[in-house]
Amino acid sequence: MQVKNQKIVVLGTGGTIAGESISASEGLSYKAAQRGIEVLLQSVAEIGQGLPETLASFQFESEQVAQLDSKDMDFATWHHLAQRCQAWLSHEDVKAVVITHGTDTLEETAYFLSQVIVANKPVVLTCAMRPANFKDADGPQNLRDALTVASVAQGAGVWMVAAGEIHHSQHVQKVHPTRINAFDSGEAGVAGTIKADQVTWRLDFKAVPKPSALTHLDLAEVTAWPWVEVIMNHVQAEAKLVDMLVKAGVQGIVVAGTGNGSVGIALKAGLMRAQAAGIQVCLASRCNQGPVVVTETHAFPVLAGLSPVKTRVALMLDILSKQQSH
Ligand code: ASP
Repeated sequence: MQVKNQKIVVLGTGGTIAGESISASEGLSYKAAQRGIEVLLQSVAEIGQGLPETLASFQFESEQVAQLDSKDMDFATWHHLAQRCQAWLSHEDVKAVVITHGTDTLEETAYFLSQVIVANKPVVLTCAMRPANFKDADGPQNLRDALTVASVAQGAGVWMVAAGEIHHSQHVQKVHPTRINAFDSGEAGVAGTIKADQVTWRLDFKAVPKPSALTHLDLAEVTAWPWVEVIMNHVQAEAKLVDMLVKAGVQGIVVAGTGNGSVGIALKAGLMRAQAAGIQVCLASRCNQGPVVVTETHAFPVLAGLSPVKTRVALMLDILSKQQSH
């Protein structure tokens, strides 16, 4: 008999993968976050011929960390999720953590976790575009693939697995509201693929290391999260919103610039006033296929080529780590 001595821990947070539709033929009207993580795990063995060989030697543990539609994801849940990941990964017999999550804010959670977890083990997020009781639900296959990737991935890293693709937390973005393959990593491309339980990593894929400043961030000490907003450059972009935010006490602003991070004259002037008043302003691009290429004309810092929402996470963590080092 084979000895099962390593564990993969599966944490449930809700999302469509745990959702139930009103009818089995109509996949868009549904309620997310209805089924428990135990039930989702059971569905994995029901597809295909039992579990794939790579998973046969693992034990599985599951924990319901949250049960929400990820449009409502919040800092308290993030905090709890990061702590549960950290706690499980510190067990010697835990190989990896898999997280089921809604698709809407998955990329933000994935990036957040990639910056705060300290462990030399992988975390793999997965999701679904169709609710669990839909006739062609994609959740069971995605979870199966995520477990398989978790069983073979080595070292630190937060990954996302869906529709047969492995994406890195740095690059992945939801790019389509309804398509089954709703995620894309822009010009960075996928980190790998999984077909028929076989994982193929892209050999030339390089993950970006996390900033060393964050090594000292202690989430346990965080009591209040900084207020950071994302605003966009667009036709007739004015500074009114920036001025209102500054007046209301915003601590950071991310501007999603047009093209290669361009910002209209009026909005730029407002942001420069905010910056002069001590508010951290960062720049990203509205374009979702590639990062801003920094030039001398950029008035605001660009954080590691991240999307606007991930720049917001990075800026929040930067503000927190600065607060802690004082
Ligand atoms: N609103 C859902 C969520 O993000 C969408 C999904 O999971 O596909 O939780």
